Amino acid sequence: HVPTIAIVGRPNVGKSAIFNRMAGRRIAIVHDEPGVTRDRISAPCKITDHACKLMDTGGIGARLSDGFAEQVAAEADIAMKTADLILFVLDSRDHLTPIDQSIADHLRKSEVPVMLLLNKADHEKQDLNLGEFSGLGFNDYIFLSAAHGRGFSELASRLDSFL
Ligand code: GDP
Ligand code: MG
Repeated sequence: HVPTIAIVGRPNVGKSAIFNRMAGRRIAIVHDEPGVTRDRISAPCKITDHACKLMDTGGIGARLSDGFAEQVAAEADIAMKTADLILFVLDSRDHLTPIDQSIADHLRKSEVPVMLLLNKADHEKQDLNLGEFSGLGFNDYIFLSAAHGRGFSELASRLDSFL
């Protein structure tokens, strides 16, 4: 069994950028327009010595007109059903949004372990909103910058203990 790691989160937090860094290739499209990745994309990846499968769930909230709450629920549920570990991505420079809260509400019911990735922490001295994120009810978190690569070796060693 190859462990599956799902990347979930609202549009524009950097899921695809994180996916590409972890996969070591540019597979998912990184885009300024929220919701550009409509499909779930997966790729093999290697974390320290472990082979695993990475899944980018870019469709969350992609199209408000399709019934937004349903989409959030559906994507989170797919991740909860298929993944061995869920990486829940948030924008560390932004405040929590109702979408973040809604995803968190779903993931809290999960038996799959959830790790928070507080992305866009590009600089060490950045003003980050850790207080808000710690209120979500998940214990594991890590600051990352998919743009600069900060935090990824730490992420790999943390994931290693799950795999
Ligand atoms: P997704 O919708 O969650 O898949 O987000 P994307 O990966 O497409 O990224 C959305 C936007 O955020 C793009 O403009 C990225 O270049 C930008 N972005 C992603 N990660 C980072 C980061 O670590 N730092 C900064 N400053 N921008 C980022
Ligand atoms: Mg995406």
